[in-house]
Amino acid sequence: TGAITPRPQIDRVWQALSDERKTVVVQIAPAVRVALGEMFGLEAGVVTTGKMVAALKMLGFDKVFDTSFAADLTVLEETTEFLGRKTRGERLPQFTSCCPAWVKYAEQFCPELLPHLSSCRSPQQMFGSLAKATLPETLGIEREDLFVVSIMPCTAKKFEAQRPEFQAGGHPDVDAVLTTQEFGKMIKQAGIQFNQLTPESLDLPLGFKTGAGVIFGVTGGVSEAVLRFAYEKLTGVKLDSADFAEVRGPQGVRIRQIKLGDVELKLAIVHGLRNARAVAEDVRAGKADYDFVEVMACPGGCIAGAGQPVSFEQDTTQRRTQGLYDADKTLQLHASQENPYLAQCYSSTLDGIGGRRAHELLHTGYSSRKRVMDEGFSVLDPSGAKAL
Ligand code: SF4
Repeated sequence: TGAITPRPQIDRVWQALSDERKTVVVQIAPAVRVALGEMFGLEAGVVTTGKMVAALKMLGFDKVFDTSFAADLTVLEETTEFLGRKTRGERLPQFTSCCPAWVKYAEQFCPELLPHLSSCRSPQQMFGSLAKATLPETLGIEREDLFVVSIMPCTAKKFEAQRPEFQAGGHPDVDAVLTTQEFGKMIKQAGIQFNQLTPESLDLPLGFKTGAGVIFGVTGGVSEAVLRFAYEKLTGVKLDSADFAEVRGPQGVRIRQIKLGDVELKLAIVHGLRNARAVAEDVRAGKADYDFVEVMACPGGCIAGAGQPVSFEQDTTQRRTQGLYDADKTLQLHASQENPYLAQCYSSTLDGIGGRRAHELLHTGYSSRKRVMDEGFSVLDPSGAKAL
């Protein structure tokens, strides 16, 4: 896994749920839906979205939304940023920025690559800022009475939600982050019989997503989702088949050349921080000519995050991966640009793709943490800094 420091937040969530002044909304990350069932005796990869919604409503959440909606937003913003760079020949490759463990690694160990990172916030943080900007008016409440919870496969997301960049007016965009394991524990604490629940549907508009937003949970998913949009942008033609199966697979580093119309793109899809480090070194040394690099710190992607149920079965990662690809197939829409609620959001709130308000709410900046690290090591152990 890419991050291993859990900070339990169950008590804060129980407190918010019992506070009558608070409206508590929740977003569910893509990878959670194919793993939570394991805590209740189901096979890895079984999609339990409907039962999760039912459980969350029983626990007292007012609205249940999907991080995949924000992943669709990420695709539109990140692809637009990427194609802009490609057209202008600027700062390539573009590295993805949706994995906070990778972002922090880059800030600490290769800050000279930070201008190459996409300025897009992660889907969790896009959801948080959008929810805080729009839901108070929609729900007729004060902003300070809205409490946003995330359910994530990831412990690094807890750190991300507390970063100063993601606080507005002294309040975080995401108030509490639960891991999949913590969510399962809450269901057990409440005595809910998870397997007997009747599935319920997610709330609109932030609960509506396409399959592109769902496959974000596996390695290669972000690249595939970006290709599904980039293809239409570059060729002006609607995709016949949404799949770019060539970017899928278990190898830790996958280099792929993909032709979209007249444009040839060179992609590197990387998972595991050791592999990320090797690719980053090549880029830094000028030995790589990639256009786009996807990095996920956890081997396999978010489906194998540190907050997921622990499994000792050999095929768990494979089953969870297949579960997400199957979930994509069973949805009606597979490309982010087809999400009708995104179009609505862009016209009502975001001033269009890459627009002024979109930049305020959906993008961010990074800064080097190297000096702090070097100083820290030089104080504690000068040889430690060298070993890094
Ligand atoms: Fe978290 Fe996913 Fe990154 Fe793992 S790959 S650290 S689960 S965001």
